[in-house]
Amino acid sequence: MSRNPRFDVLFEPVRIGPVTAPNRFYQVPHASGMTNALPQVRAAFRGVKAEGGWGVVCTGAVSIHPSSDDSPLPFASLWDDRDIRAHALMTDAVHEHGALAGIELWHGGACSLNRTSRIAPLSPSGMPWMSTHLGFMGNLRPRAMDAGDIKDLLRWQADGAKRAMRAGFDIVYVYAGMGYLPYEFLLPEYNQRSDAYGGSIANRVRLVRELLAVTRDAVGDRCAVALRISLEELRGKPGTNAESEAHEVVGLLAELPDLWDVKMDSSPTDCAPSRFAAEGSHEPIIDFVKRSTNRPVVGVGRFTSPDVMVSQIKRGILDFIGGARPSIADPFLPNKINAGREHEIRECIGCNICISSWHDGVPVRCTQNPTAGEEWRSGWHPERFAPPKSAAALLIVGGGPAGLECAVTLARRGYAVTVADAAPEFGGRLNFETRLPGLRTWGRVADWRLGLLRSLPNVSLYPGGALDADDILALEHRHVVIATGARWTKMLFSSLEFPMGELDVPQVYTPDDLALGVLPEGPVVVFDFDNYYLGGAIALRLAEHSRAVTYLTTAGNASAWTFMTNELPLVHRALCKAGVAIRTLQRITRFDGETVTAADVYSGEERRLPCRSLVIVGMRKPRAELYRALMARPTDLETAGIATVTRIGDALAPGAIVHAVHSGHRYAREFDAGEADATAPAPAPYIRDFPL
Ligand code: ADP
Ligand code: SF4
Repeated sequence: MSRNPRFDVLFEPVRIGPVTAPNRFYQVPHASGMTNALPQVRAAFRGVKAEGGWGVVCTGAVSIHPSSDDSPLPFASLWDDRDIRAHALMTDAVHEHGALAGIELWHGGACSLNRTSRIAPLSPSGMPWMSTHLGFMGNLRPRAMDAGDIKDLLRWQADGAKRAMRAGFDIVYVYAGMGYLPYEFLLPEYNQRSDAYGGSIANRVRLVRELLAVTRDAVGDRCAVALRISLEELRGKPGTNAESEAHEVVGLLAELPDLWDVKMDSSPTDCAPSRFAAEGSHEPIIDFVKRSTNRPVVGVGRFTSPDVMVSQIKRGILDFIGGARPSIADPFLPNKINAGREHEIRECIGCNICISSWHDGVPVRCTQNPTAGEEWRSGWHPERFAPPKSAAALLIVGGGPAGLECAVTLARRGYAVTVADAAPEFGGRLNFETRLPGLRTWGRVADWRLGLLRSLPNVSLYPGGALDADDILALEHRHVVIATGARWTKMLFSSLEFPMGELDVPQVYTPDDLALGVLPEGPVVVFDFDNYYLGGAIALRLAEHSRAVTYLTTAGNASAWTFMTNELPLVHRALCKAGVAIRTLQRITRFDGETVTAADVYSGEERRLPCRSLVIVGMRKPRAELYRALMARPTDLETAGIATVTRIGDALAPGAIVHAVHSGHRYAREFDAGEADATAPAPAPYIRDFPL
């Protein structure tokens, strides 16, 4: 297949100051959770994207000084020359495939609480950045920078730029976004200085102008200088000489950087979850930038459709198609478009599990791409697979995320694979969950896998038939994979913080009942101690059906864990808009069909609420009957020639979709890692990376 000429424009080289990008695919700086402590892991993660066709591949935030210390969140550093080698591994990996390497030099200002370095955080005027979420809270307040501090900052940036150049980077950033130090100077409410760096917009922009100048001096004509800037807040402020302060800032700096990298101000709008924002959601904020500068402009918007990308270029919004999440979900996105295989793009679903890994302080993980972060550690390449070691045929029972991922990877390796599912449609839990408000895009997890499975000759798909142990014995596959998922229970939640006591009385439902079409009578209480997306999404769905809904949780917020995925503020907004009452820090103790009794998790004080139906979104248990039935018949298995029976995904350990996909992938990579026709999968060794 060859490239559709409609997409030719995406493959034009574009000049960025003294360097030239080979095409318009630009992996903007994004967190990887890998830090300088995992240099090989990081180099392989970034290098694979260059191999997949991204013309520019950037780092995440790289701190220029110990006064910008984000711990315990992961960040990279370029504090002294000893940091250079770790970065050089990445630039080598990127250059190997003809791409440019960019580095986002970063100072977090009042946003980095310096928990390790214990240096008083720097800020324009001593105003703290006071997060209301525990994960970001701190109790060391920043100090106001004086003229000497500003000089120091400029020197750190210049030193960082010189080291970046020595590490082999082609594009060096000044970062004025997302609450970090140079951005803090731009905001009139936050920057209350009365010197040359505060007050008028020309003064507030002075620090960014000087950072650009010292960076330019440091790199000469060897590297391009990029400015990354958040424009959302400024775009909302009317300007004195232009439509908005954002227009004024861009106008004042127009030709100073070699590249404008434009974005939103907060993680939930910048890295907007698909539940609440569509592809291209930044456009209304950044659409004017290209009209104010002759320099190339890059921006993001969870772009996965080549037609949307072309439209961004042709309509003069962007010069480069920026990608963070789309490049994680499919590092080979550009190459697939180039080869006329755009239908094979594994599109990002916008779930933001990748962001949660940064909040967790671990290397990036992805729901769609189980190889993300595993390129070096596990040797998993997203597009290359070890050939089969035998002619063994495999049966996968259950076609949810785990079973489908397992099947697709085994099939791409060349094994003959059969997938059977009891349900009329493949997709498992996704069949129900993607019908809930905002969750349609997540269907791509099943769609991408099914699309590929249907195109491969070595795959047989059998939906609509539950298999029992006798069926499986009769089919005589060499290896059987049990991917039968999990069931929601009616367990309640004990004061010891684990599930306890099943509430098996009428009018108590689980998500499984709703999946079967039950529509509970109102008033409904949704009791959520799973605390990820499902409880909140079910409450929204019931409100759509005009039920009076109370959402009740043991946590301090609705869908509390969605803080990790940037969804939490948007979930709260949606629940309030839908008229759902939110009760936090409560657990249900009794239900009599007319009222529930809820106890405060700390004080134990009880309250009663009117309630005709109770939906419990709490604990899941593996659907393991089939596995147990097979394992109880070792002689029959041997007679049938079945060498292994293995559980994967939720049938093994219930979890988020990302874990099910990873589990399915791991099986397919590793089940034959030992002997050619082993009777048990061999666990792969755990490979460790070390700082250089
Ligand atoms: P996971 O997230 O681990 O992939 P899911 O619950 O999403 O799990 O999917 C499990 C799938 O397994 C469901 O589609 C279900 O219909 C199917 N399944 C469960 N038991 C059987 C069985 N005995 N035979 C065939 N399919 C089954
Ligand atoms: Fe996209 Fe989700 Fe993967 Fe992040 S984790 S890249 S949002 S699919």
